[in-house]
Amino acid sequence: NPLFNPEFAGYIGSIIDIDDQERAQKAASKLLKQRDEFLGVASHELKTPITSLKASMQILEKLSEKDFDPAKIRPFVAMANKQVGKLTDIVDDLLDVTRIQSGKMQLNCTNYLFSESVQDCINEIAQYTSSHQIVVNKNEPLEVYADRTRIEQVMVNFLSNAIKYSPEQNKVTVNIEKAGSNLKFSVTDFGIGIPQDKQAYIFDRFFRVHESSYNFSGLGLGLYISSEIIGRHGGKVGLVSEEGKGSTFWFTLPLTNKSEQV
Ligand code: ADP
Repeated sequence: NPLFNPEFAGYIGSIIDIDDQERAQKAASKLLKQRDEFLGVASHELKTPITSLKASMQILEKLSEKDFDPAKIRPFVAMANKQVGKLTDIVDDLLDVTRIQSGKMQLNCTNYLFSESVQDCINEIAQYTSSHQIVVNKNEPLEVYADRTRIEQVMVNFLSNAIKYSPEQNKVTVNIEKAGSNLKFSVTDFGIGIPQDKQAYIFDRFFRVHESSYNFSGLGLGLYISSEIIGRHGGKVGLVSEEGKGSTFWFTLPLTNKSEQV
């Protein structure tokens, strides 16, 4: 049997080695490319708020040399604060990724009424947008055992994406319902949507659909962090989207036994 010929086996072995080497090389160069892309995007994302912060600080410095007029100073202090907020968000996302990667993301779970928490998130988002109206279609009073802060982070991410990626529209809808032994939360927008062939990668780290064709800022980390948070709670994430029509992002969370009996 030629397959048992040691020379033939060696030949096959070397082909496999070459294949493995090629694969390893390809994987390494893909990683390097991703790293370079990430450094480019991250520096740009940091540079934008820093430039704005610097401009505000320079104006404030000039203003403070003259007579102190609170009305003139206030908008620049507000702008500086806003940019510091943006920088903090970026650094928080990067820290979350490191926590996830090293398995060090701690959950602090309690029982709480989910509907209250949804309203808190909507109120928070409403502070930052005057362009969109967030309408809650259905909000069943369900109780979950979860890390409230982390789950709110996911909801705020879904809601802010819905607003960000539907610039021409003014409506975003929210649904909270029971789905078997789970709760299902979903956010629907009527914005730019996501092409079918990109949908499978949407929860991947650093993945961004619209970076080249549109002018949206972001590092492509929010959805990755969100799916990890939901996964750690034993839930699932998903989306339904059509390009040019809009998207629905959803997640599920196991209900506490008490809610299951409702
Ligand atoms: P980013 O900071 O880039 O918004 P995310 O992880 O939150 O990062 O989202 C990843 C990518 O998914 C975005 O860059 C965008 O291309 C796409 N995306 C997310 N939410 C929506 C949405 N509601 N509508 C259209 N595209 C979206």
